[in-house]
This record gives sequence, C-alpha cells and structure tokens, in this order.
Amino acid sequence: MSKLKNKVAVITGGNSGIGFGIAEAFKNEGASGTITGRNEVTLNNAVAALKSDFIGIAGDVTKSEDLENVFKKTFDKFGKIDVLVVNAGGVVDGVPMADIENITEEGYDRYMDLNLKSSYFTVKKALPYLNDGASIILIGSSAAHRAAPGMAIYSAAKAAIISLAKGLSLDLLPRKIRVNTLSPGSIDTPVFGKLVPEEHLDAVKQMWIDITPVGRQGLPSDIGNVAVFLASDDSSFIVGTEILSDGGLTNIS
Ligand code: NDP
Repeated sequence: MSKLKNKVAVITGGNSGIGFGIAEAFKNEGASGTITGRNEVTLNNAVAALKSDFIGIAGDVTKSEDLENVFKKTFDKFGKIDVLVVNAGGVVDGVPMADIENITEEGYDRYMDLNLKSSYFTVKKALPYLNDGASIILIGSSAAHRAAPGMAIYSAAKAAIISLAKGLSLDLLPRKIRVNTLSPGSIDTPVFGKLVPEEHLDAVKQMWIDITPVGRQGLPSDIGNVAVFLASDDSSFIVGTEILSDGGLTNIS
C-alpha cells in the first residue's frame, strides 16, 4: 500500500544527497510536490531523475522572499501542502567548518543562519500554506550528540533544532501539525566533497565506516525510509521528538 498516496510534500535541498533520497522514497510511496535548491542545473536533473509529478523551485533558504515563493508556487500548483521536510543545510559555501581559533564572527553567523535560523523561518513561511494535521520533519544530525573537531557551531545549531521541534510542536498543537527531528549519522552524500579535498575523500569515508557500529555509511534511502514513516499517519502519535538514524554512531564513546 502507498503510505503517502495523494500527499503533497516540500523538501528543501531535494536536489542532492539526503533530500533527494527523501524525495525518491516519498515518490515511491505515492507523494508528489516540490524539491528545492539554489543550483538550477542539479535541480532540473533531480526533477528529471524522479520521473514523477515532483517539480523543482529554485531558492535560497536564507532568503525569506525565496521561501515564500516556494510555498506559494507549490500551493498554487497542488492546492495543499501535507508534509514539509526542512533538509537544506550543512556546509556554507566558501566558509570551511573550523575550530574557534579559525572562525570569524561572520562565519559563525552564516553557519547559524543556514542551519538554525533558516529551519525556523522555513517553518514560519510554510505555515500559511500547510494543512492542519501536516507533518514537519526537521533534519538534525548525530553531530548534535557527538562532538567532532572544528564542528562546534554546526553541532550547536543541530542541537538547537531538536529543541525547535519540541517547542514548535507545542505552538502548532492547535492545528494538529506534528514537528519532529530526524537526525542522520554519517550518510554518503556529496557533502563530503565539500568538507575534504578529493585526495582524502576515501580515507575520510573509511574512517566513518570504521567508527559506525553497523560497519557502513548510511545511504540517502536509509533516511528516506524513516522520513516516509514520520510523514505518514503511521507516526501520528510521535510529536516533538527526535529519531536518530545513525547505524549506532552515537552509542559509542
Ligand atoms: P548535500 O551537500 O548533498 O545537500 C545539501 C543540500 O542543501 C543541497 O540540496 C543544497 O542545494 C541545499 N542548500 C545548501 N545551502 C542552501 C541554501 N542557502 N539555500 C537553499 N538550499 C541550500 O548534503 P547532505 O544531503 O549530506 O545534507 C542534507 C542535510 O542533512 C543537511 O541539513 C545536513 O546538515 C544534514 N546531515 C547530513 C549528514 C551526512 O552525513 N551527509 C549527517 C547529518 C546531517 P544547493 O547547493 O543547490 O542550494
């Protein structure tokens, strides 16, 4: 049975990695809707690869007017929005993740804007268009629970997202809109190419495989499958909490 039949979803950052994996999983369960991203080439390629009713709308999640455009156009096209996946985030272009000695105040602001502020305002801008009873999934990270060198700001932003889901789910209770955080562990996506030079890529991925108890990196489809559950009525009693999909990474010291 299709778990998301007739559901309309918006997935920010659906043109790459985890967001695309979620879009594929949603499509396979009967959903349609919108994927977003700034890069129109990868966005068009992702829409073509989905071979479905999903459309692409370009936009920057740190810009309010772009967010409004995404939700208005989606609503105009599909007539409703049932599911919102707040996934765009991660690495800020041109600002490497760095330790406290090497990050500027502007770098701090840009990481917080992309990973925390944009999550809040993506939800806020979606609200006028979301159905009562909608499901909102915020993409967090195992980094909220597990420190790594040079990642303090990113980790703090992702930890705050877990609190956002708790607070927003209370704010939105009158509309029966559920908000939950889905936190991936190490997932094999293009983000690693943004974090480390090509010559170190294999070694870094191997390091993640070695320290993840199940002995592999996750796939975008691993996250997509959990997102289907959180988007569907199967999870109707799950409100304001976090689900980790990390192969056991946060269980080890
Ligand atoms: P990718 O780099 O593959 O994808 C990032 C996505 O975010 C792209 O679609 C990108 O599109 C979009 N994006 C980035 N900046 C902006 C912006 N300013 N406005 C709009 N869209 C933007 O990485 P992942 O798929 O790995 O990451 C997706 C999410 O998962 C992130 O929130 C990340 O923090 C989280 N995560 C990832 C983990 C991993 O191991 N991969 C682990 C834990 C969490 P475009 O460049 O076209 O704008």
